[in-house]
Amino acid sequence: MISLGLIALVLIQSQAAAAWGNEGHSYINRAAAEKIPATMPRFLRRAVVEIAYLGPEPDRWRSPSEPALKNAQEPDHFIDLERVSWLDPLPRVRYEFLRKLYEKRASTTDHPDDYLPERVGLQPYITMEVYGRLKAAFREYRQQRAAHQPTHAVEEAIIFYAGWLGHYVADGSQPLHTTIQYNGWVGPNPNGYTTEHGIHAQFETAYVAANITANDFAGLVKSPERLDDPFAAYVAYLRQSNGMVENVYALEEAGGFTGKGSPAAFDFTTHRLAAASQMLLDLWYTAWMESATPVPEHAPSAPATK
Ligand SMILES: [Zn+2]
Repeated sequence: MISLGLIALVLIQSQAAAAWGNEGHSYINRAAAEKIPATMPRFLRRAVVEIAYLGPEPDRWRSPSEPALKNAQEPDHFIDLERVSWLDPLPRVRYEFLRKLYEKRASTTDHPDDYLPERVGLQPYITMEVYGRLKAAFREYRQQRAAHQPTHAVEEAIIFYAGWLGHYVADGSQPLHTTIQYNGWVGPNPNGYTTEHGIHAQFETAYVAANITANDFAGLVKSPERLDDPFAAYVAYLRQSNGMVENVYALEEAGGFTGKGSPAAFDFTTHRLAAASQMLLDLWYTAWMESATPVPEHAPSAPATK
């Protein structure tokens, strides 16, 4: 009985961390790829099918048959912003964030394990790390072009990083991936929102698959803009998403995600999907533009490593 309960819990949590399901992830990547401007490399503009395929890629790393992979990367899909409300601004790099969380955990007596990184989530860190990989690959591409070397291999790397990045950016636009309210309301509940563990998958997977296609929101995606500070822009995007958690619950309460849903649910969901495509396109564009800046020849010496 215990093991059955555990299996059910694992299934619920797995579903909860998927975000947007297969369809939503593919649509977000595709809608962004179709808007890549002519000022970016042509091979990337032609890779719409590959980029769309890669949208769900990190969800393919969540099978119990690869336990090390599953364990290591599941916290990448979310961040419970309420658990880090005391940490503003968020540190810019992963290990500084981890250190702050462990310090907090050590000084807290009330549910200290709520501050474990795997409970809080590492969403903005993996996003900026994959962004960094993409930017480094773009820089390599520029160098190889300038040296008249073949670029096929680096093009494949760029397509992979661009598609992989799309997964996390998409997760970040799903309000329930930014909150402790990820799958059923917890704590004080004056509006009587659902406490059932079903709203997450009902919204992001079942409702989207049955009612929305990429064409429904592609028109909302505009030409990309270069971001002055990609990390700050991305955290603001996550906070905006977190500000819409109650909208998801209110729409669910009104039956908006049941069956064919409601016009309000359609409007809300298409705008969330478009916000993801827009942020993804802006990050691709910013990585491309920033990759033109050469790495300083005399980089400051790195601290000694083991
Ligand atoms: Zn995910």
